[in-house]
Amino acid sequence: MTADPVAIARDLIRCRSVTPEEGGALAYLQELLTNAGFVVHRAAFAEPGTAPVDNLYARVGSEKPNLVFAGHTDVVPPGDEAAWRHPPFAGDVADAKLYGRGAVDMKGGIACFVAAALDYLKAIGGKPRNGSISLLITGDEESVAVNGTIKLLQWAAARGETFDHCILGEPSNVEVVGDTIKAGRRGSLNGTLIVSGRQGHVAYPDRADNPIRGLVTLIAALQAPLDEGSAHFDPSHLEFTSVDVGNETVNLIPSQARARFNIRYNDCHSQTALKTLIERRAQTAAAGRVRYSFEWQPSNADVFVTERGPFTDFAVAAIAEVTGRQPKLSTSGGTSDARFIKDYCPVLEFGLVGQTMHAVDECAPVADLLTLTAIYRRIIEKYFG
Ligand SMILES: [Zn+2]
Repeated sequence: MTADPVAIARDLIRCRSVTPEEGGALAYLQELLTNAGFVVHRAAFAEPGTAPVDNLYARVGSEKPNLVFAGHTDVVPPGDEAAWRHPPFAGDVADAKLYGRGAVDMKGGIACFVAAALDYLKAIGGKPRNGSISLLITGDEESVAVNGTIKLLQWAAARGETFDHCILGEPSNVEVVGDTIKAGRRGSLNGTLIVSGRQGHVAYPDRADNPIRGLVTLIAALQAPLDEGSAHFDPSHLEFTSVDVGNETVNLIPSQARARFNIRYNDCHSQTALKTLIERRAQTAAAGRVRYSFEWQPSNADVFVTERGPFTDFAVAAIAEVTGRQPKLSTSGGTSDARFIKDYCPVLEFGLVGQTMHAVDECAPVADLLTLTAIYRRIIEKYFG
């Protein structure tokens, strides 16, 4: 092996790229990729009320198909650095593990893909002849994610760039490298239920209308199952996250009560249909006796699934060849930048093991970095083979 994923990951960890800081991480990749023959662009995006963020797009080759690897160099803050046994931005290797913030989420994943691509290009003597390899790397994933992948994709499309298939290198595996590919994600929708009543003295409830009674009725009704799951997904789930009255007085019936909730929904629903379903259930439970309304927050996290096809088969076969494992195609977990990429091309998420992500002493076993590099290399070979 010529390119060393451990060294690349270590160098990236040493860049303090806590969102929205670039920290030198993109500059490092820019140099590495330029030297390997990639054409590299940097694109900074800003929006009122958010910090400007730097992003990178690199491509080698000009033909189709264009296989794109997506990822983020930004990391979450380390928290109390004194709590780390290995400093979060040192990139220490100890007990055969690489330590540091971003080791698994997801500087390690980026390093593995870069090493795999560089080795592949070296082996074929330069540019791919029958396609292109690209990297779409953002510095804005861990925070509000408004100046990152979503804008970088629009920027690339405006330049005439097209993508055929994407690997997003988020830590997808649960226990060992090769156990899980994410091939879709649930949607996420946030709402608030507001019940109105009439304020009054607690000793004279007949003169008031307590909204808490109505809220309890509606909360109970809204917790009924939403579906039984589908071919690709577990059942959708609604979870209340906060119940708020804000009443600091002991002898007062409040005039309003609110409850916030989040729904993780599968492909049995569209966002619109889901809102209709929830509102209809509330209407039935209220039976004309509870005055209520809903506030829905805008959501850009729609449900999607990446259907099984040749691209998925390449990834599954590469994992089986390198690890002997048959990966599960999963749609569980939270949202990711895949929700934006899926509008441009089919996207699979496959990276390291997620167990220590965002934790103190985040680390990736050196063996995992080597295994993931070998898998990415096999996927690239199959893709252009
Ligand atoms: Zn991540």
